[in-house]
Amino acid sequence: MTAGIINPPPMARAERTVGRDLMDIFEKLIAGERLDYNDGSRLFTTENLSAVGWMANLVRETKHGDRAYYVRNQHINYTNICNKFCKFCSFYAKKGGPQPYELTLEAVRRRLEEHIGVPITEVHMVGGINPRLPYEYYLDLLRTVKEVRPGVHIKAFTMVELVEIQRQAEKPLIEVLHELKAAGLDSLPGGGIEILSDRVHEELFDRKLDGDGWMEVARTAAAAGLTQYATMLYGHIETPEERAEHLVRIRALQDETKHFVTMTPLAFHPEGTELEHIPHPTGYDDLRAIAVARLMLDNFEHVKSFWIMNSPQITQLALWYGADDVDGTVHEYEITYQDGDHGNKKQVLTRKQMIKLIEEAGRIPIERDSLYNEVTSTDRELNTNLSDMIPLTPA
Ligand code: SF4
Repeated sequence: MTAGIINPPPMARAERTVGRDLMDIFEKLIAGERLDYNDGSRLFTTENLSAVGWMANLVRETKHGDRAYYVRNQHINYTNICNKFCKFCSFYAKKGGPQPYELTLEAVRRRLEEHIGVPITEVHMVGGINPRLPYEYYLDLLRTVKEVRPGVHIKAFTMVELVEIQRQAEKPLIEVLHELKAAGLDSLPGGGIEILSDRVHEELFDRKLDGDGWMEVARTAAAAGLTQYATMLYGHIETPEERAEHLVRIRALQDETKHFVTMTPLAFHPEGTELEHIPHPTGYDDLRAIAVARLMLDNFEHVKSFWIMNSPQITQLALWYGADDVDGTVHEYEITYQDGDHGNKKQVLTRKQMIKLIEEAGRIPIERDSLYNEVTSTDRELNTNLSDMIPLTPA
């Protein structure tokens, strides 16, 4: 539960900023009362985004002050072969789309070695549901990462991938999770359910695990002691009410398991999907998703703006709309691409650029590990003359 807002502004001033319509929500926040589904729906539909952002920022500053977190990480998407054919997905291999690939262990090793000079603390791995990959592949994948990068934190496999891994293993899920942990798995990245709505599930991704199934896997993973992260994919066919419902259900699950660390709202990218006719969510939508997540999830410590999905520029603004985390250096990412750069998997912000991104936004950069322990390192990466691969401020 939230402890309310530290040093709240006087009510009269708050009413001028928030507006009379949303004052009951502001009063709940001051009192440390939990917002409910109706509040969430109103926050997703009010025209007064600045009020939503202002309130979210008060909560964010109560929790984290001016601190804004980043991590040095590397993403590896080990295969894009997938038998789920989700309508919102541009990543999986298809005719006229991306060519199929599955990374051999040797290729994974090479990718890790390419960045061996950068002291990353996290490797983030997800992939498609590829029925050709045997159980041993997943165990060896984890072992390979730990061999090349001893001590790194491995965040890998959505709940949907875990179901496939269990199918291959032909063992109870809890047993599989313990074996994955023994091979090197440290935490689960969230994702896979997109939005907890039976209607959206049926329309967009009915071959995948449904919401109840997803929550059950999350509970089992919590019982296995695996830290978890949560996401919300927005900007496709979901309604504002379904977004509110998603947050309420995730929050209830967190009350139960207490294993989630961060919520990351993920903007839908229509390019290359079956939903190409749907316009891209706007920066306005991105900021609202971040802010409402911050306000609704009183039992989540962190809300992240993932710069690849939201752009570095919106992420800078998001640090004043409830976000306290910007994700990390990434290096390569194949699920979505920066606007206008479709197919270029090289997507990186160096540590220097992460610091610049946060400082330009007026916050204090804190390098963290996957569990938000502060990382203090002095390495050459900061002093290297790096070209700005992604300009942080538009020319
Ligand atoms: S979202 Fe995941 S499960 Fe669905 S098609 Fe894409 S890779 Fe496969």
